[in-house]
Amino acid sequence: MAENLQEQLFEWFQWFHRRPEPSGAEHGTTARIKELLRETGIRVIDTGLETGLVARIDGSAEGPVVALRCDIDALPIQEDSGLPYASENAGYMHACGHDFHLTAMLGAALLLNKRRGEIKGTVKLVFQCAEENGGGAKQVLETGVLEDVREIYGLHVESSRAPGVISISAGPVNAAVGGFRALIKGKGGHASAPHECIDPVSAAGQLIVAAQTIVSRSTDPFDKVVLSITHVEAGNTWNVIPQEALLEGTIRTLGTEQFKTVAEQLGRICRGVDEIAGTVTEYNWLCGGPSVDNNAVLADFAAKTAESLGLTVMPAVPGMGGEDFALYQERIPGLFFTVGVGSPQAVHHPGFRADPAPLHTAAEFLAELGIRSLVRPV
Ligand SMILES: [Zn+2]
Ligand SMILES: [Zn+2]
Repeated sequence: MAENLQEQLFEWFQWFHRRPEPSGAEHGTTARIKELLRETGIRVIDTGLETGLVARIDGSAEGPVVALRCDIDALPIQEDSGLPYASENAGYMHACGHDFHLTAMLGAALLLNKRRGEIKGTVKLVFQCAEENGGGAKQVLETGVLEDVREIYGLHVESSRAPGVISISAGPVNAAVGGFRALIKGKGGHASAPHECIDPVSAAGQLIVAAQTIVSRSTDPFDKVVLSITHVEAGNTWNVIPQEALLEGTIRTLGTEQFKTVAEQLGRICRGVDEIAGTVTEYNWLCGGPSVDNNAVLADFAAKTAESLGLTVMPAVPGMGGEDFALYQERIPGLFFTVGVGSPQAVHHPGFRADPAPLHTAAEFLAELGIRSLVRPV
């Protein structure tokens, strides 16, 4: 069974890997997933989603509803992996392993369908669009299709771990991601008469340097925080002090609470620089996505389930990237785990290469989580 399943999954994986589609435009991918589910007799729920879909597998008995989630979009990257089944869509690549995720979910769908007799309730399978630009999870949630879901499980590939290794940790495993904008308003004038001006450029300089003390001086050394100023703009010639200077940047923290602390501290620094320089700074920040924060009970349950299947379980590799699975977790207790795919390059790199060998492992683990979570004592 495992060998046949692996062969089937590898064939599907290659099909999807050759045809990456960007966030929100996963039309071919969606159509193919629907076709494969239909061939198996699995029902796709009418959600009105343009891309992506939600399927459901009802078991033999009434019971709760749980969800398994994968994502299906690719990235605007020119592939340089050397794979014989590399992207045929120039400029796009499955560089985040979402082709692996969706193929593993299709495998789980096959397995669950065969084991309907063991399903005590309903398993919903979420094939989510547009993870990379952050809009997909919101779209799925807005359809209301997950309103009856008791718990949700999601997977991601992990390039740095050996193929098939499952990584699970309770608590935050991905960053809360957002940005800030500081528009420093001064008073422009002749560069020969700085005393008659309020120079926003020197204020911006002070702000850039002082902002770096947030991570080094104001943050608990055990917290994970990134603060980068990535956009600086002021003036357009050599002999004029400009009116304004603009700074933009990103804040990333492991844990959503920490994000607010860092963003507010940067606001205090803006006010401090204004006090010294005489500038007036318009400061705004926005946390675009919360931190993936794993439910401790589900983490323990999932780790034990993986171990019972003979899988190697390790603690999660925390990352400072964002992941919109966090939006589901704001409403539904959830667990996000990774499957090692031993890639020579990390995700989002043109040379990323997921080892397809653990596709069936991921499928079996997902199916098992679906079946066992329905009878998990709560
Ligand atoms: Zn990604
Ligand atoms: Zn991803």
